[in-house]
Amino acid sequence: MIDIAKNIAAAPRRTKASVIRELLKITNKPGIISFAGGLPDPELFPYDFVADAVKNIMAKQGRVALQYGPTDGLPEFKEEFIKFLQKHEGLTVKPANIIVTTASQQALDLVGRLFIDASDPVLVEMPSYMGGLQVFKSYGADFVGVKMDEDGIMTDNLEERLNWLRTQDEHYKFLYLVPDFQNPSGVTLSEERRRKVIELSEKYNIAVIEDSPYRQVRFEGVAPKMIYRLDKETRNTDNIISLFTFSKTFAPGLRIGVILAHEQIIKKMEILKQSLDLCSSSLNQLIAAEFLRSGYFEKHIARVNTVYKTKKDTMLNALAEHMPEGVTWTKPEGGLFLWVKLPESMSADDMFEDAIKENVAYVIGSAFHCDGSGKNTMRLNFSYATPAEIAEGIKRLATAVKKRLVAK
Ligand SMILES: *Cc1c(COP(=O)(O)O)cnc(C)c1O
Repeated sequence: MIDIAKNIAAAPRRTKASVIRELLKITNKPGIISFAGGLPDPELFPYDFVADAVKNIMAKQGRVALQYGPTDGLPEFKEEFIKFLQKHEGLTVKPANIIVTTASQQALDLVGRLFIDASDPVLVEMPSYMGGLQVFKSYGADFVGVKMDEDGIMTDNLEERLNWLRTQDEHYKFLYLVPDFQNPSGVTLSEERRRKVIELSEKYNIAVIEDSPYRQVRFEGVAPKMIYRLDKETRNTDNIISLFTFSKTFAPGLRIGVILAHEQIIKKMEILKQSLDLCSSSLNQLIAAEFLRSGYFEKHIARVNTVYKTKKDTMLNALAEHMPEGVTWTKPEGGLFLWVKLPESMSADDMFEDAIKENVAYVIGSAFHCDGSGKNTMRLNFSYATPAEIAEGIKRLATAVKKRLVAK
């Protein structure tokens, strides 16, 4: 056989297996309550809706559904998505501002392909979404981490980093943000800072990637405007590239997402997508179009949010009841995750094995930090386990924490 280490190209040589996927192998052991995955609750998938939709589509649009479609997406789907943006985000866009993707992971890949040459600096939140870090790394990105607090990315730190990059005369290209109920931290970027991000994007000539798979998964509180919309209303820089996906609101198996951007950017992405997969699934776009057109989206997301709110509250209550002093956590108003901080002196990496012994699992926070920091943090998912499992799992996790504290 060929020498894999020698014969393969630089990009896959650079790319490592995702820590989460590796962890999931351990955490699938029977008896373990896992907060490690990021999966939506399969009880909530709209099985009957999809079955009916497929039947109707085959009867009326079978020739479109089973045929290749345009690379930028089926007009039927785009039209419904444009109405959706108008209705839910107060945003008016043209079909030329949209390309349909094979969910957001492909969108992130297109962003990487479009912008990154090896060694280009890419600004990311600390912590940031691992799937984003992994794809940008494969294109050779050099990460520049920006600090976050409970209002999202810290824009004064962002400006410091941009200033520093400018003196280095480096080809910095974009800032990658997950502004709504961030994966992993559950934090939402405040509207004030969104405005500041737009201002900095103009001042430093940098694209902003708004990756927002959880925006509609809001249980309470008021949503700040999308960065894309705020830009349109204020500076109109056209520097914002927004990513949308049906994975967290409908079904990840559908693999349908959308990129929203200036039409020149969309045109470039269309050419890149041709070599990736020619087009995203026509059938699945028609299912997604029906999901929006029929109004089932609103009913479905209301149900999802009710169930997830209960789960999130169960987790928050259990944390308050069982965790010892010195442990803190975020209180998200939506999404699938919350973020736990142990005392500075503790390592969630080292504690992972203890947790597995207690039959509970999480993802180590350091895996989301581009510089490997955040050793005392962890990500907990609350969408997948049942409320009873959540209560029991947090109790087990607290036991692991308390034992470590005593051992010190
Ligand atoms: C889940 C997720 C994605 C990718 O989801 P797709 O299924 O590929 O659409 C992208 N970004 C973030 C932040 C996510 O949490």
